[in-house]
Amino acid sequence: MKSIKFKQPLTLLIVRDAQHAVKQVQLSKPLLILVPTVAILSLSGLIISMQVQSSQLITRMEQQLNHQNVTHHQMEITVINREEAISRLQNEIIQLSSEAQDMKDKMQRVHELEQELQQFIKKNDTSMLTDSDSSYMTTQSNLTNDLPMHVGGEFIAVSTSDIINLSEEIKDDYEDLRKLLDTMESNVPRTIEKAQETQNMLAGIPNIWPTSSHVISSSFGYRKDPFTGVAAYHAGIDISGDTGDPIYAAGAGTVLEADKQGARGLYIKIQHPDGLQTSYMHLSDIKVSVGDRISKGEVIGELGNTGRSTGAHLHFQVEKKNNVVNPLNYIK
Ligand SMILES: [Zn+2]
Repeated sequence: MKSIKFKQPLTLLIVRDAQHAVKQVQLSKPLLILVPTVAILSLSGLIISMQVQSSQLITRMEQQLNHQNVTHHQMEITVINREEAISRLQNEIIQLSSEAQDMKDKMQRVHELEQELQQFIKKNDTSMLTDSDSSYMTTQSNLTNDLPMHVGGEFIAVSTSDIINLSEEIKDDYEDLRKLLDTMESNVPRTIEKAQETQNMLAGIPNIWPTSSHVISSSFGYRKDPFTGVAAYHAGIDISGDTGDPIYAAGAGTVLEADKQGARGLYIKIQHPDGLQTSYMHLSDIKVSVGDRISKGEVIGELGNTGRSTGAHLHFQVEKKNNVVNPLNYIK
């Protein structure tokens, strides 16, 4: 019964106006349900599709926004990092500048000391070790410079151009340092050589007493000759002593003569630096040979009574550039 009722068609009357006839359309019942259903479904599909598309669009936009946020954040970090790096570099340049200046000052002080040393050597070359030690120490102490520990002052920001100028100054400082080092590199070996020469010269000065006895039996200069009683010139000093007493080299040098000769008896002559020579006469024994390098105070022979002598004594004689001089100007 129901299926028959469902299959019965529905009649649709289309009335327009008086001139047109009434049209009658017969529609089956399933068709009448199907058409709106399809329409509703199509509309729903369209809405769902639009919703999906807009949702995807929103998601994409959100992703882009997130990406932009991340990029922006990264850029912020990069900028902060760069600012920190620049600030660090500026501080390092300032520190470097301070160190360069400090180093330059120190090098200058070393350079001055090196010059002081040269002056010291030069002074000793001429004055033969006077009291220059004390003057050297005084000058040296003047060079010390104590820096104060307390700091302060107004804060003034540093600009980029300041930093560039500072780095230029550092370059100049290092250039000055390099020049100073070059000068010292060429000067210091010569200074050491000069110091060595001075040391040799000081060791060579015949200034120590040549025997154990200190009794001077005859002085340097004019005297009555002990054999003839006639006025004569005594070219050295006579130091009386006992035969066999040690004879010391008054200064370092090289043995020039070691021989026996008439009035001199057994004698030794030593060549010292700066044109100085010492002679030791009337010896009883000679302990060195010609050409031997002798150090100051070294035993070279024994006191005696050989040659033109009235008793055991040492005739000690000093010559400077072949002229006899008073030995007491040297030995103390
Ligand atoms: Zn004499």
